[in-house]
Amino acid sequence: MRENIIAANWKMNHTTKELDEFFAKLLAAYKPREGVTVVVAPPACYLAQASKLAAKASKVFIAAQNMYFEAKGAFTGELSAAMLKDVGCKYVILGHSERRHIFGESDELIAKKVVAALAAGLTPILCIGELLQEREAGKTMDVNRRQMNAVLDKLDKEQMAKVVVAYEPVWAIGTGKTATREQAQEVHAQVRGIIADKFGKDVAAGITIQYGGSVKPDNVDDLMASPDIDGALVGGASLVADSFLSLVNFKKA
Ligand code: PEP
Repeated sequence: MRENIIAANWKMNHTTKELDEFFAKLLAAYKPREGVTVVVAPPACYLAQASKLAAKASKVFIAAQNMYFEAKGAFTGELSAAMLKDVGCKYVILGHSERRHIFGESDELIAKKVVAALAAGLTPILCIGELLQEREAGKTMDVNRRQMNAVLDKLDKEQMAKVVVAYEPVWAIGTGKTATREQAQEVHAQVRGIIADKFGKDVAAGITIQYGGSVKPDNVDDLMASPDIDGALVGGASLVADSFLSLVNFKKA
């Protein structure tokens, strides 16, 4: 059975005090569930603090929101995969739409980051997703296929089996507009098909594909009822412990 992963992407939010309060609430109420992994991605300066807190719970892990692909050197402001491992990260979010569209990260750069993360023993959460104008122009799968293949072309079967994919339609991120269950399921099934075409059905069947885009306590159960949706990558609704806990406790129909 595939693991469901509920991940909090805090983006550039929260400070030391809020992080402590969040984890105190989360750890007091959280009950580990079979088939569900919890991931929290705080800003990079809090990764070590968060890792120590997450280590107190079962199946709660820390992700970085980004990294660079080089191992070390003159790359001011960047962090390597080994550094993220060193401060306790297990996951790293790569190719988030804000990295692609605000910071101009290319498919090629993201592919290099995925390869470097895997080489260091981190699990990449590879984000893909189309813009509104791309969806409206009927290019949804062209875009998602291009973003997937840029990475898949650089991986072998064993590497692919360790990747988590997050389908995040850009028009649904932080907008309050969630893709319908049918819209999300359609893309998820096709993304799984892209993986199957390259690496076989067994590999594809084992890959966690999260949905992201305005996931909230009141829509998570509906989304999670889809056969190819294996969790959520959540921004806004992950900032408050109670709301994040409701997501972690989703009901799978
Ligand atoms: C995200 O940042 O990945 C995200 C999906 O944000 P939100 O849940 O706020 O739409």
